[in-house]
Amino acid sequence: MNLALLFDEDFVAQNRVVLRGRRLEHIKSILRVSTGDQLPVGRVNGQMGLGKVIKLTDSETELVVVLDQQPPTPLPLTLILAMPRPKMLRRILQTSATLGIKDIWLINSYKVEKSFWQTPWLSDENLRENLTLGLEQAKDTAMPRVHIRKLFKPFVEDELPALLKGKQALVAHPGTSAPCPTHLNSPTALCIGPEGGFTPYEVVKLEEAGCQSVHLGPRILRVETAVPVLVSRLFDACL
Ligand code: SAH
Repeated sequence: MNLALLFDEDFVAQNRVVLRGRRLEHIKSILRVSTGDQLPVGRVNGQMGLGKVIKLTDSETELVVVLDQQPPTPLPLTLILAMPRPKMLRRILQTSATLGIKDIWLINSYKVEKSFWQTPWLSDENLRENLTLGLEQAKDTAMPRVHIRKLFKPFVEDELPALLKGKQALVAHPGTSAPCPTHLNSPTALCIGPEGGFTPYEVVKLEEAGCQSVHLGPRILRVETAVPVLVSRLFDACL
């Protein structure tokens, strides 16, 4: 937690928050702050700044916050991901939030196990928790939006063409002939397949909707590895 993300319910006055639970534990045992110390904070979907600890007990801490800095620029990326297995989903959500992705679509695909859709990690509360961990890692406040589409064909035929308007659209698919481009830095949509890959039919449907198939070389990466590798190849995050 390189920044404590603050929610409306944390505010007890315009510039004062009370934190308990996970954030309190982290502040005490990892950051080891004392009364009077300052730590980075940010308001969800708002500005970032510093919080000064004015009270610290076993059960809560109270901070006076000054929020006067903008969060980092979001990545211009719409990530369209075949629903991963639950434990991978958690990590991918956190990593995606850390990387600055703000628009995430979880879609069905032939090789997605039906049981994956039953995971409690898809509840609003759990999505928010994992995205929060990713934002706190990055020092960002802009909460990504997650859209869930449990049917592949209606999504690809009815929604995807409009979603891709004005964007360069790619599907990462091993064995295809075009290498993944670099230095895009303009609105982009990227589809990533499930552990077993997209089927040839699905790749054709994604291409018909406007996606270009691209590869990352002969090594097959796990989805959780493919996400950061693709993002760092596509965008110049450190410029
Ligand atoms: N079993 C599949 C690979 C699935 S890897 C196969 O052999 O084709 C899961 C997803 O990660 C893929 O659908 C793709 O979107 C992405 N991916 C992993 N490695 C890749 C590579 N070398 N090139 C392009 N995409 C890759």
